[in-house]
Amino acid sequence: MKTFNVPVIYRSPLITAIKQKRKQQDKMKKDFSPTHLDFGPVKILLARHFGFCYGVENAIEIAFKTVEENEGKRIFLLSEMIHNPQVNQDLLSRGVQFIMDTQGKQLIPWDELHAEDIVIIPAFGTTLEIEGILKAKGIQPLQYNTTCPFVERVWNKAEQIAGKSYSVIVHGKPKHEETRATFSHSRLHTPTVVVKDMAEAVRLADYILGKKEPSQFYEEFKGQYSEGFNVEKDLQRVGVVNQTTMLASETQAIADFIKQSIKERYQLDDANIGDRFADTRDTLCYATNDNQSAVIGMLQEPADLAIVVGGYNSSNTSHLVELCEEHLPTFFISSADKIINKQEVLHYDFHRHEELHSLQFLPEKDTVTILLTSGASCPDAIVENVIEKILELHGIHDGITQISRSL
Ligand code: SF4
Repeated sequence: MKTFNVPVIYRSPLITAIKQKRKQQDKMKKDFSPTHLDFGPVKILLARHFGFCYGVENAIEIAFKTVEENEGKRIFLLSEMIHNPQVNQDLLSRGVQFIMDTQGKQLIPWDELHAEDIVIIPAFGTTLEIEGILKAKGIQPLQYNTTCPFVERVWNKAEQIAGKSYSVIVHGKPKHEETRATFSHSRLHTPTVVVKDMAEAVRLADYILGKKEPSQFYEEFKGQYSEGFNVEKDLQRVGVVNQTTMLASETQAIADFIKQSIKERYQLDDANIGDRFADTRDTLCYATNDNQSAVIGMLQEPADLAIVVGGYNSSNTSHLVELCEEHLPTFFISSADKIINKQEVLHYDFHRHEELHSLQFLPEKDTVTILLTSGASCPDAIVENVIEKILELHGIHDGITQISRSL
């Protein structure tokens, strides 16, 4: 896979060495067991796959290069480039300005943009409507484009099934930048509706099965369907694509459920289901699959707690948290600073969308075993800082150096 020029401040020599060693030992990526880092009273089980993915490194390389090469020009990002506070802060400190927040709320009016400005499209991609606004201002929207190729692959899949007269159901968070972009591209080609989770998929299937009055659909899915969507006609032939960072098991369950509902409604079987249900497999990206599989592998080992590091608004990170918290106490933190001492930690509850202050962090034991991973937009340097902080709290001062030497 291509390598990118990412600022060294985001790298961790220790983690780079661990990843390289694991890669050499397991070229086909079949081993999802964690790496054991034994520091005596602290044992860290580091996930097999975590941290910056292809799309994030690509976006960082383009954004930092653009800043470097365009001194004196005004540089804007449509919204956060990736969902990591440190990376976004670093770009802001270099003078980059965000036009919108992650929910799509305008921070800088379009009127303030001029043809000579530079606008960077984030890794999530953007909507065709926004591309149109930029073009009208004389700004080439795709000149500084960091849209991840794995996101574009979803758009292509939607277009492909649209070409075969299927409508598209997008499994994604309706307000997430990527889902808004995918919705915009898909609806250009075919009727499109977004479902955020299994509960919504079940409610949508009620319309497929004729269990609900069609007129209710428009209120129930308000803001989530394309203009002119005809619930009686447009759910007769469908395909499911998804935001690249959703939970793999949920995406599979939703596709299976919709497929089953179509089978039931039209009395189809495995031989002829393709007449009304497009086989898209899933459109999750490789990083989402690898990172979730690595967490599942890590969870096979006994441990006291899990720490997941990443931006609080990061979708892929929240799904890693979701997997961990089914099994053991899990702390979702954005940086090492969130660890106050052995007992206290500030961590994010993504169900309630708030940061909590917990007083029961590390257990009082002779040996504490911690599962550790991070999201696809989290720099490895932050994960190393977290390890260092935990070691410090246990009075271990040269642990990282010792482990690095042993690799
Ligand atoms: S998480 Fe996947 S789709 Fe998103 S930027 Fe990374 S590789 Fe691309």
